[in-house]
Amino acid sequence: MVRLPAGVRPAPRGPVSGAPADTVPREAWQVTVRGLVQGVGFRPFVFRLAARHGIAGWVRNQSGEVAIAAEGDPAALRAFVDALRDEAPPLARIATVETALGQMTHGAAFTILESETQPGRRQPVAPDAALCPACEAELGDPRDRRHQYPFTTCTTCGPRFTVIEAMPYDRARTSMRAFTQCAACLAEYTDPADRRYHSETNSCAACGPRLWLAEADRPEARADGEAALEAAAAQLVAGRIVAIRGLGGFHLAVDATNDAAVRRLRERKSREAKPLAVMVRTVADAARLGAVGPEEERLLRSRERPIVLLDRCTDTPLAPAVAPGLTTVGVITAYTPLHHLLLDRVGRPLVMTSGNASDEPIATGNDEALARLGSIADAFLLHDREITARYDDSVVRLVDGAPIFLRRARGYAPLPLVLPVPSPVPFVAVGPHLKNTFALVQGSEAWVSQHIGDLDNLETLEHFRTALDAFSRLFHIEPELAVRDRHPGYLSSRLAVELALPRVLEVQHHVAHVAAVLAEHARTGPAIGVAFDGTGYGDDGHVWGAEVFVASLTAARRVAQLRYAPLPGGDLAARTPWRAALGYGSLAAGSSPAFDAAFTGVVPAERAIAEQQISRRLHAPLASSMGRLFDAAAAVLGVRRHAHYEGQAPMELEALAGRTPAEPLPFPIAEEADGYLVMEPLPLLAALDERRRAGDPAATLAARFHESVAATAAAVVRRVAERTGLVTVALGGGVFQNARLLSSLAGRLAADGFEVLRPRRLSPNDGAISYGQAAVAAALLQAERGG
Ligand SMILES: [Zn+2]
Ligand SMILES: [Zn+2]
Repeated sequence: MVRLPAGVRPAPRGPVSGAPADTVPREAWQVTVRGLVQGVGFRPFVFRLAARHGIAGWVRNQSGEVAIAAEGDPAALRAFVDALRDEAPPLARIATVETALGQMTHGAAFTILESETQPGRRQPVAPDAALCPACEAELGDPRDRRHQYPFTTCTTCGPRFTVIEAMPYDRARTSMRAFTQCAACLAEYTDPADRRYHSETNSCAACGPRLWLAEADRPEARADGEAALEAAAAQLVAGRIVAIRGLGGFHLAVDATNDAAVRRLRERKSREAKPLAVMVRTVADAARLGAVGPEEERLLRSRERPIVLLDRCTDTPLAPAVAPGLTTVGVITAYTPLHHLLLDRVGRPLVMTSGNASDEPIATGNDEALARLGSIADAFLLHDREITARYDDSVVRLVDGAPIFLRRARGYAPLPLVLPVPSPVPFVAVGPHLKNTFALVQGSEAWVSQHIGDLDNLETLEHFRTALDAFSRLFHIEPELAVRDRHPGYLSSRLAVELALPRVLEVQHHVAHVAAVLAEHARTGPAIGVAFDGTGYGDDGHVWGAEVFVASLTAARRVAQLRYAPLPGGDLAARTPWRAALGYGSLAAGSSPAFDAAFTGVVPAERAIAEQQISRRLHAPLASSMGRLFDAAAAVLGVRRHAHYEGQAPMELEALAGRTPAEPLPFPIAEEADGYLVMEPLPLLAALDERRRAGDPAATLAARFHESVAATAAAVVRRVAERTGLVTVALGGGVFQNARLLSSLAGRLAADGFEVLRPRRLSPNDGAISYGQAAVAAALLQAERGG
């Protein structure tokens, strides 16, 4: 049977089956397929299906859809339409298949027609896909004409989003148009029986992109083709740093087993401590570095091919400098032919980190990379296939056996997400300040961008503008208003103003976190929303980050929070956990608790200034941040007082806690006159300090801290539920990247009978903010219209 979604017209009825074949009249059907159907080998697939079912007619890419004219006997037509969905190519995602009666032409052939552009129509752009098994086999086959060819692709693998300039998808609208297919490639392209039939990125060593190696300090030493691969491998084996041009930008690669080399990369990149991702060739190689269960394996083999956080094996060859202080390691398997060829030659895991200096966006162009990465890389492995979209690796980790995103980019963006309430007008949600993404909205579709980065340097701002332009062009969306964060000082807020749209809406940061989770689960609320986060601008002008709401998409009421504490130095505190400890200590009614482990090694003059900031309420904003409470706990336990990056102390605290079962410590909830609930952090920190003095191991106390936060959050939710009758809880905010906390809280809530909504399609962190802003704004705009 044709499985059609609701609201789609059923196939026209043919005559009753059983009639003799020669008396069955032929019919003409018009078939329209929507979804991700371009750049995925769909037309060749339709062509082969038509041949199998004896169907005449044509197939064509149109803006927004694939159109098919099909002529044949009704039973064959029905089978043909069924198969469109049931046997669709691996990269395709079918949204709808509509059929209607068409005009008979009495033709006999089936052809692929030129694409047709219709202004104003939208359609998904395929994400890039990892090298497929068939192409990988050819790569290693000495008899194949693409043996060792670093840019091999086919209709089910290779670059898409990173080469597409406009839709509909045809070679002429991609950066592959610079390469004219040779006779052999063209023969494949035009042969319906070939698996590269109508493969728009088709090329070979004779006609396709070129590879070469340039050395930073010896521009005359250039190696081409296979010699470039050999030279790059030799450089890596010698411990040198090679910048490699990939699908969506450059990576910086270095031997992951060479500690001195990894430390040199860190020093040159100004990346002291943040963990680095490691690339290996196969899943078996990955299993030598970390624990690979069935779901990890699925992800490491998937066409999306993200970096997967694995629990690190105790005896890996990895250099300690790869992920200092952590028990996990981010592992990715080779996903381009070039990666395979290089890893084959190097024979060891490679650090593969973004090709950028500290917090800038990754470099994409050859000249840009030579200029920006010249002081980091010793050599550059370059190619001449231009990159049309900057595209970082995605990062996931598993919590309770299911993946959550730490970064959503390659393989996933720019596929759209659905909004539960459609917007009456097109708009742009500009997203947050850090870990920025934006979302372009039309109707019920939100086109959430790939990871853009932290909007605090010119390069990232430019990346934002370029990517927004590209999305607007690709998806034909002209925004009529902008949605931004409440924080007046954010560069994202200024970007919203810069767009000069007639109207700007504001959505509070943590309301957006909760809305994002509700919306991706197709909910509008009300529900209980728990936002545990770093910091965001609150409605009362204070810094928020540990809030509980009764929230729907159109209204959110804050019903509980973590007790405000002064955060001396403001944003500076994110990298100095001792300041958070000092701020929480100042909540004590009498003399502040000593927390002496928190201040070991802290310059006394700096501490004195921070104490003055607190007592004079100067540069010490009131904050309810859960991220900073984790920082404070790490400081109180003596785990970390100074951090190289926001989140380092909480990540180390989680690593220390491991999976050791633990009992909560006291983390009381105060109830104010109007029923408003306040979680009291001071008794918890004081208990940690006391147990540390009593000699309890830091690992035990780190575990107990996690359980305390989970238990108290669950208790708050229960009390809110008693009053409101709500049974659904949405969990959002960057702190839920912590697997132990997320798992413990979700488990406790589920045991209490709550329905727990977790971030699935987007990250718990600020990467989801633009979508949350979009969900709220769309619902508000719809409500304005009386919808
Ligand atoms: Zn392939
Ligand atoms: Zn060729």
